[in-house]
Amino acid sequence: NTQVLFKDYVKGYPTKSDMVVTSDGTIRLELPKDKDGVILIKNLYLSCDPYMRGRMTKDKKGSYVASFTPGSPLAGYGVAKVLESSHSDFKKGDFISGLTNWEEYSLITDPQSLIKIQHTDVPLSYYTGILGMAGMTAYVGFYEICSPKKTDAVFVSAASGAVGQLVGQFAKLLGCYVVGSAGSKEKVDLLKNKFGFDEAFNYKEEGDLDAALKRYFPDGIDIYFENVGGKMLDAVLSNMNVHARIAVCGMISQYNLNQHEGINNLIFLILKRIRMEGFLITDHYNLYPKFLNTVLPLIQEGKITYVEDIVDGLKNGPAALVGLFSGKNVGKQVVAIAHE
Ligand code: NDP
Repeated sequence: NTQVLFKDYVKGYPTKSDMVVTSDGTIRLELPKDKDGVILIKNLYLSCDPYMRGRMTKDKKGSYVASFTPGSPLAGYGVAKVLESSHSDFKKGDFISGLTNWEEYSLITDPQSLIKIQHTDVPLSYYTGILGMAGMTAYVGFYEICSPKKTDAVFVSAASGAVGQLVGQFAKLLGCYVVGSAGSKEKVDLLKNKFGFDEAFNYKEEGDLDAALKRYFPDGIDIYFENVGGKMLDAVLSNMNVHARIAVCGMISQYNLNQHEGINNLIFLILKRIRMEGFLITDHYNLYPKFLNTVLPLIQEGKITYVEDIVDGLKNGPAALVGLFSGKNVGKQVVAIAHE
């Protein structure tokens, strides 16, 4: 059973050598005979998510989930196939999504977080992204937190990523004017040509973010979907309209800093009566059925699209995960272990 083990707590930017790919020597995992409610799964797709950086830190100040244990496999969202089950909700052959370990096979003794996949007419990997945590985050963040109207001018940062590409498409479906920022020409092209954003720019090539935002939003921003924090947030604050909304989803530019950057322009929250609201998707899973009923048909009817960046094999998992923090991923970063 090949596994990706977490080596030790990380300071600063994580590197792939903070993890080690190894085999635990097990040939065949078996269900325990003395315990019911356990499933043996074959992991198929693993999700790489920025929040996992928080789990690599001992000091929990900046994170909301338990730290990884040095010497143990990484854990995260994934898609798997049930090989054996003594749990009444799951049977052999079912596909499931939810929390699993970074290894080929896992024994799950507490399958509470797992959902049985009902719709297999879309790629199974989608349950790590558009139909999983990232999709829920875009859906809840945009529709529930941003209070969007079709006349709104919407700005999305990290716009080509797992969450951002969907936020932009949801906003376009509603009829909004939508601009995204991303870190390469390839990503900017995707935003404009594949996801239908009205405009997009490469923030790495803009010396003056304030001037860039003024160029794309001469009449100001009504909604900012915040994925990056730092200098971008500062620049956005001074370009927002009266009663604008900011959904604070993530601040990836801050996750690897020992000291978070300060924000200078918070006074605009008062001057422009801005509502800035943070959210954690884990508080909103009651909306999953409603989300699935909305998003699945949009995929099936071709009204939204999704770009994934899939690397093959657990051995490529560590590089894929740390690549999120340098923008190596183009779209949702997935690690494929097996296809069925
Ligand atoms: P992405 O697929 O967007 O991958 C991360 C991207 O962030 C990179 O590709 C890179 O894109 C960008 N990035 C990395 N470092 C920086 C930096 N220093 N400055 C600006 N951009 C940077 O990830 P997700 O879509 O999965 O996540 C997006 C955000 O949403 C993250 O902040 C994440 O933590 C947050 N999130 C929050 C949740 C919640 O419950 N609140 C749930 C899920 C996600 P580029 O090339 O454009 O720089």
